[in-house]
Formats: sequence, C-alpha cells, structure tokens
Amino acid sequence: MKNKIKKTVIIVGYQCNNHCRFCIDSDKRGLRNKTTQEIKDEMIGAKKRGTTYLELIGGEVTVRSDALELTGFAKELGFKTINMATNGRMFSYPEYTEKMIKAGLTDIVFSIHGHNAKLHDKLTRSPGSFRQLSEGLRIFKKLGFNKIGSNTTIVKQNYKYLSQIAKFIFNQGIRNSEFIFVDPSYGAAKNNFKELVPKISQIAPYVRKCLDVGKKNNIYHWAIRYVPLCYFQDYLDQVSELQEVKTFKTEHLAPDFENFNVEESRQEIGRIRPGKCKGCKLFGQCEGIWKEYLKHYGDKELKPV
Ligand code: SF4
Repeated sequence: MKNKIKKTVIIVGYQCNNHCRFCIDSDKRGLRNKTTQEIKDEMIGAKKRGTTYLELIGGEVTVRSDALELTGFAKELGFKTINMATNGRMFSYPEYTEKMIKAGLTDIVFSIHGHNAKLHDKLTRSPGSFRQLSEGLRIFKKLGFNKIGSNTTIVKQNYKYLSQIAKFIFNQGIRNSEFIFVDPSYGAAKNNFKELVPKISQIAPYVRKCLDVGKKNNIYHWAIRYVPLCYFQDYLDQVSELQEVKTFKTEHLAPDFENFNVEESRQEIGRIRPGKCKGCKLFGQCEGIWKEYLKHYGDKELKPV
C-alpha cells in the first residue's frame, strides 16, 4: 500500500468574521487565540514528525493580523502543501490575495453554503459574505491559482438546493468539493438541533443528485462526509472518510485539544454504529451516525445491507 500523506491541521483560534447558524465552534468564540509563536512552534513540531501537508483553519484564519507571516513561515519550513480553509471574505481584496499566494499558500478551500447570496448570507448571518466570497474566487482564478476546493455544510435550510449548489461550485471551476452533513456533537447544531439538523432519509436523494455532478464529470474528490453508508451504497468511492483513510494520516492541533490520530478516533468520539448495524455488510467500513443524532431521531432510518 502506498505511503499515506502526513497531514497536520492547525486550528489557530476560534474567532471569525461570519456568524454561521450551524457553527460547531459557536460555544468556543471566547477561547483565546493561539499566539504567533505557539503556531510557529506547532509547525516546527509537525515538520519534525514528518508532515508534508499543512492546513490552517479557524474560526477564520484571515481575521488574524499574522496570517501572512504564518503562511510565509510555513513556506520557509518547506511544507509541500500549505492549505487554508476560509469563508473567503478577506480574499475579495486583491492585494491581500496576491500577498497570500506570494507568501506561500498552495491550496485554498472556500466554505460555500448556498448558490446565491440569499441562501448563503442567510446561513452565515453576514450580509455581503456571498458577494465577497465570489469576488475572492474570481481573484484567485484571475491570478492563475487553480488549487481551489470547497466545503458545504448540509443543514435543513439548504439541503433541497444541493443540486444548484453543486452546479454553482462546478461552474466556478472547482474540482475538489466536500458536502458535509452537519455535525451536531457540539456548538450551534447541538444547541439548535431541531432547527438545523435534517433527517438522513430526507437529505439522501438530494445528496445523491449532488454527488452525480462529480460522478458524471469523473472528479475524484467530490464527496459526502459524515453519513451512514446504507444510503450511499452506489457512491462509496465518493465518501470522504473512505477516501481519507486511504490517503491521509491526520493530526489536529487546536487551542483546547490535540488529536494525533483523527481517522481512528472519530468513531470513539462522535459517531456510533448502533446494535441494529450488527451483521451489516458495510459495518467494517462505515462510521455509522452521530451519537447526538440518535438521541433525537433514533435508529429507525438505518437500513443494514
Ligand atoms: S446499517 Fe449501520 S453499519 Fe450498515 S451502512 Fe447503515 S449505518 Fe452503516
């Protein structure tokens, strides 16, 4: 088996200039941000442990005044990939985007929760956020930067529009996309479960149509994350976790926790295959359903294969 890519995700802090309804970090906004030196030390440690793929996330990294300095430092250390997850708003300033690319950014992942301003801004609760994100995308492409990905969180408010969102993302030239079933383990989706978390049986037909956009166009990473596999038996090659375990060995370094084996620990932490799953042919590959989901909706929807 080929060697896995060693990936370190540094969560720099939880501050953000958006106010997403479903934010998993909504209860952590008050935690202190890491200092510049702490993050640099974590990068040095990651480099020593053999990491080649560095990802900086928040909160929102670009609200920090040291975001350029940190990216430059990562470049000096020689990481092959320097990725950043972003709401995209700061990249609507062309000089900022140019400087970030010059500093060493190699990949970017935009959070796109709607195919238009009405839906996206409703979910981010930040008027103008879709316009700024779209402008950021335009500027990256104009500068010839093509390693652009996207993340879309699936909630009650947007699941019926997944086909349109997928088309919007595809038409932007993005060929690396994740559609993420909202995580209700912590934060806003836990606190407002009924308002935000749809049933898996409701979203599944819409998700399959969204995945078809990637399937039809032979895109390797056009994937769904955090769903029970029984609803996606014909889409197993488009399930993020199944791709991930083959590709990455990931560690997460946050202000309030460290996890040095993300792929293996996820099941122990947030997800479960309840008794009903015993005997299912997909049991070995499947991570099941969120524990918090089961508390609200039970296991009736799961369909052992
Ligand atoms: S029945 Fe359980 S183990 Fe089987 S695919 Fe569904 S959630 Fe996974």
